[in-house]
Amino acid sequence: MNSHPLPRINIAIDGPAGAGKSTVARMVARDMHYIYIDTGAMYRTVALKALEAGISPEEEDRATALAERLDIRLLPGPEGQKVLADGEDVSSRIRSLEVNRSVSAFAKIEGVRKRMAALQRKMALEKGVVMDGRDIGTHVLPDAELKVFLTASPRERALRRYRELGDNPGISLDQLEREIAERDRTDREREIAPLVQADDARFFDSTGRPAEEVAGVITEWGMAIARTISAEEK
Ligand code: C5P
Repeated sequence: MNSHPLPRINIAIDGPAGAGKSTVARMVARDMHYIYIDTGAMYRTVALKALEAGISPEEEDRATALAERLDIRLLPGPEGQKVLADGEDVSSRIRSLEVNRSVSAFAKIEGVRKRMAALQRKMALEKGVVMDGRDIGTHVLPDAELKVFLTASPRERALRRYRELGDNPGISLDQLEREIAERDRTDREREIAPLVQADDARFFDSTGRPAEEVAGVITEWGMAIARTISAEEK
């Protein structure tokens, strides 16, 4: 069936860095014919553009002004999602080590978070989105019909990010694991919308489990919720 008759729901997938959120979220969106939204890519784009403009995370007003005027677009594509910043393709540059190291500091800024959350809520208005991030179930989409908190062991999360860096990672696996732990700590301890499991989120440890399997379980949860809503509407 191309367009299934079930009502569309919103799915929030939160968790720490490297938990497999984006891979799994993309698969769930594919299987449910939903739109995938990578909110981490949005914060990364702000960080990249700020670094390029010589703005430091301490300059909160300048970073906020930049986030407010920046046009960020997420385009689904065959080789994954493309990220455009003011029309320019920044998809690979937002994955650099420099951005990895500074993104959490920019993501702490209230004005930056406000702007990103407003954009994200707008994207989810029509329902039928799978959104991954840190604060989606708790803050951006508190009414999402399905919330998942996805995690994996620190070593496995570091390994996944290490592979993403390609042939010249420019960093050792141990160092990467330390940097990820540091980023998670910043994300968990920040004042505004910290990384925390929503009370009504389902916890999922993906350590040692292939992404397709994890996505299959989440898709099944989503379909079951959509079927229940459909039955209630009748
Ligand atoms: O998901 P990813 O690792 O690409 O996210 C990069 C950073 O963006 C996170 O470490 C976090 O600081 C920030 N972020 C956030 N809220 C979100 C998504 C990402 O603060 N919803």
